[in-house]
Amino acid sequence: MSQPRRKILIVEDEPHIVLGLTDALEFEGFAVISANRGRDGVNLARQEKPDAILLDLMLPDTNGFKVCEELRRWDAFVPIIMLTARSQEVDKIRGLDAGADDYMTKPFSVGELTARMRALLRRAQRPSGNHPETFRIGDAEINLTAHTITRAEQTHQISFYEVELLRLLFERVGQPVSRDEILQKIWGLDAAPSNRTVDNFIVKLRKKVERLPDKPERILTVYGYGYKLAP
Ligand code: CA
Repeated sequence: MSQPRRKILIVEDEPHIVLGLTDALEFEGFAVISANRGRDGVNLARQEKPDAILLDLMLPDTNGFKVCEELRRWDAFVPIIMLTARSQEVDKIRGLDAGADDYMTKPFSVGELTARMRALLRRAQRPSGNHPETFRIGDAEINLTAHTITRAEQTHQISFYEVELLRLLFERVGQPVSRDEILQKIWGLDAAPSNRTVDNFIVKLRKKVERLPDKPERILTVYGYGYKLAP
């Protein structure tokens, strides 16, 4: 049984990176399309409806944050991995805030990127038929179908990984869940000591769930281990 080839959009202006990624992804069986400007990337995404998007942060006409926000305005679900040349946490968090699901810092290994891409697509296609539609964390309501968090009369759109992370913590309420387990179950990745993905997602979620994000009462840090949801 052959599956239709899944389509990846690369939005990146450095030709050697586009070429390297295209080769690697085509070798993995993906169909690849690319744009070297942000505006063209948004248009191409609308026309071609890719299954996932690799998005460079520094583009000639705009930046990846803006492109990401624009993509998210009409598609809350397509997985987006941001490619950043900078390693500052602030850029990563801003990228995740703009709606990216994951990020890779350049120079990255193409093997790791394709592994993440496969994990992302595996997770994104998981059927969600038998899950309850909503649950509450404190005074925030999470809607699993609409991918939203509502608190204090404000509704935020959240990405696929944010939903899954909250769901995992909720299923284990009151118990610590390790970073390694979160990374493995949500991202399908083996933990690397430098991987701050989970922490960055927690920062992002606290802004939407907590009354005072800097003094969390619901999503608690378990030092040196991971996180737990307050019972
Ligand atoms: Ca660039």
